[in-house]
Amino acid sequence: MIQRHATVQVRIGGVEVGGDAPVVVQSMTNTDTADVQATARQVAALARAGSELVRLTVNNADAARAVPRIREALDAQGVNTPLIGDFHFNGHRLLADHPACAEALAKYRINPGNVGSGEKKDAQFAAMIETALRHDKPVRIGVNWGSLDKGLATRMMDENARAAEPLDADHMMREIMVASALESAQRAEALGLGRDRIVLSCKMSGVQDLIGVYRLLAGRSDYALHLGLTEAGMGSKGIVASTAALSVLLQEGIGDTIRISLTPEPGGDRADEVRVAQEILQAMGLRAFMPQVIACPGCGRTTSTYFQQLAQDIQSFLREQMPVWRRQYPGVENMDVAVMGCVVNGPGESKHANIGISLPGTGEQPAAPVYVDGEKVATLRGDSIAREFQAIVEEYVRSHYV
Ligand code: SF4
Repeated sequence: MIQRHATVQVRIGGVEVGGDAPVVVQSMTNTDTADVQATARQVAALARAGSELVRLTVNNADAARAVPRIREALDAQGVNTPLIGDFHFNGHRLLADHPACAEALAKYRINPGNVGSGEKKDAQFAAMIETALRHDKPVRIGVNWGSLDKGLATRMMDENARAAEPLDADHMMREIMVASALESAQRAEALGLGRDRIVLSCKMSGVQDLIGVYRLLAGRSDYALHLGLTEAGMGSKGIVASTAALSVLLQEGIGDTIRISLTPEPGGDRADEVRVAQEILQAMGLRAFMPQVIACPGCGRTTSTYFQQLAQDIQSFLREQMPVWRRQYPGVENMDVAVMGCVVNGPGESKHANIGISLPGTGEQPAAPVYVDGEKVATLRGDSIAREFQAIVEEYVRSHYV
């Protein structure tokens, strides 16, 4: 059982983040926000994949004007996923000039490194917090090492240089990021925003840096925390780096909401980032989203790709059924289905799963024993193994999750 780091609970639209709420999955669109149809379509797809919050950039007046229309288009489809506005440089002006945008958003993301410089910085930050107060919205104070508050960084590095035992550059970077987040949060509180209206993040792109900075942040505050490895990268590199960083932190109870910042492959599916986030949380036993397929990797004992195909077919079948099953069969997301390549580990693994099948390996009898709740219930043979096994899975779901 993971002991969660105690944080203040924040309500974002209808979604609770922090406190004893489950770790929330969020994602971000990459459409032009000003394109209402394309953005609403992508938000709906992300929501369907399981994103519980969706962030979109609000970078200009056209985008700000589009936000309430995107909200309306989603509401008309019955998609009530809260939208978060990502603001940089001109957020104070956009929120003031477009009150319908300020109202349609469920949270504002403010980057303290990008709210302005010099004397303008405090006034522009205050303007955004005052808008949040006027519309009764929470904010995320999201520090990113790629856009660090230059004034704060210069001041802290000068102080470090004069210190008797100066910190090295990596430690100093983390200290600056944490100070930027905490000082901004304290300023927001001084302006009247409650702690239950503030989420913090400090995103970095290095795994060890991210772990280090969040340990510092969690050790010094009880604000709800948004986790994510920024600029994680493409494909397996992005997935592995994000998983490595987030797993360590989540295991230490740190993190109330997560986003996986994958660079999509050209023509790839944006919703992959949602699925990866869900799989991390489910693999760690923090949440359950969909039935898990336990499949062996195969080896020289398997002469065909048949069992790989069966594992993939079952995985796709379960994924396709989940939008309906989730409503009809509560608890089905906890089901385990084992698909194994031979009898070496097949029956054993099958007995541990809710349902399991072992396909015949090289030289074995052409028979596939099926186990349900640890008991052998059938031996499938011939060309219809896949179809018959799927029918057993469907029957199990219908009879066990009512
Ligand atoms: S279960 Fe059989 S086929 Fe699968 S990896 Fe183990 S020995 Fe190989």
